[in-house]
Amino acid sequence: MTTTRLRCNCGATASLKPLALEPGLHAADCAECGAVLLQMSDWRRWRDAQAHTDAPPATAAEPIATETQDHAHARHCPACARLMERLSVDAAGAFRVDRCAPCQCLWLDRGEWQALVQRGLASQLDTLLSDGGQRRLQAERLQATRMQALRQRHGSDRIDELQRIRSWLAEQPHREELLALLRTGDLH
Ligand SMILES: [Zn+2]
Ligand SMILES: [Zn+2]
Repeated sequence: MTTTRLRCNCGATASLKPLALEPGLHAADCAECGAVLLQMSDWRRWRDAQAHTDAPPATAAEPIATETQDHAHARHCPACARLMERLSVDAAGAFRVDRCAPCQCLWLDRGEWQALVQRGLASQLDTLLSDGGQRRLQAERLQATRMQALRQRHGSDRIDELQRIRSWLAEQPHREELLALLRTGDLH
C-alpha cells in the first residue's frame, strides 16, 4: 500500500505526507488534521529493530500533557473504505485507536502516538490490540466499575480496610481458622 497517495477523510484536499514518527518508523500524516496513518508492517519492523539495539525504548522521560484529539465516530479506512474498528488502549476506554484489520493499518488522531509513547505502550501495540489484550482491558474495565460500585455502597474507608485485612489474612498460616473465629464470634 502506498500510503502517500491516500487522502484523509477529514475533507483534506492534499494527500497524506510521509512522516517519521520516530527514527526508523515511517508513517504518513494529514497536513490538515494531523491524523497519522501507520502500517503495522512498518511498526513491526521498527519494533524489531528496537529490540535489537541497546537504545532505550521510546518512552518519554517526563510525562507531558499531550492533547489528543480523539474523534467521536469511527473512521473509514483510507485505503479500502471499510469502517475501521475502534480499539481501546487503556482500561478506562477513554483513548482509542482505529484499525483496519484487512489492510493492517492504524489511524491515530493528532497527539495519539505521543500519548502511546508517554504511557510506554508504543512498542506493545500488537499485544494491546490483540483479542487477548482487548479482553484484558475489558476485564480491567469491569473490575474498576465493580470496585467503584462497592466503594459507593460501603464507603471508601471500609473497602480500604477490607483490602488491608484481606492482605493481612493472606499472610497468616492459619487463615481459615481465623476466618472461622470471625464468623462464629467465638472470641470472648
Ligand atoms: Zn485529515
Ligand atoms: Zn482498509
